[in-house]
Amino acid sequence: MKRSAMKIATAAVITCALFLLNACSQKDTDQEALGEAIFPQGQKGPAEYFTGNAYNYGLVPADSAFTTLVGNVYFEPGARSNWHTHPAGQILIITAGVGYYQEEGKPKQIMRKGDVVKCPPEVKHWHGASPDTGLQQMYIVPNTEKGIVNWMEPVTKEEYER
Ligand code: MN
Repeated sequence: MKRSAMKIATAAVITCALFLLNACSQKDTDQEALGEAIFPQGQKGPAEYFTGNAYNYGLVPADSAFTTLVGNVYFEPGARSNWHTHPAGQILIITAGVGYYQEEGKPKQIMRKGDVVKCPPEVKHWHGASPDTGLQQMYIVPNTEKGIVNWMEPVTKEEYER
């Protein structure tokens, strides 16, 4: 092979490798949930309460007039909350992506865009994204004078995949 042909072949191999590398990394960008985002991503939730990357963006802080907390969480694929309870319950409104909600002792349910889920007061549960698609989840916590959340143990890989 001539030297110039060799150079072209080498460049073609490198270009192909870069293309494949780029295609692989784009799988992680979660276009399905991010492309439909309504609110800014917000601040990363602490590892103490979340597995994987979850971001909280506050919309309405609870005060004495409203005693209701409203915000949005973006869960990256695979991310989920710890098990927890809400003393006065919680309402979830899904605006994009795919995720799960599970109450202790019950099978997990799939949540998709447009779903509204009511977590009853004091019922132990978790919520988060599916393994391949993230989740955009609005939350409403009423009657915050009773408390907002009681955090418990992480959701194990086995529980998440069950
Ligand atoms: Mn909850």
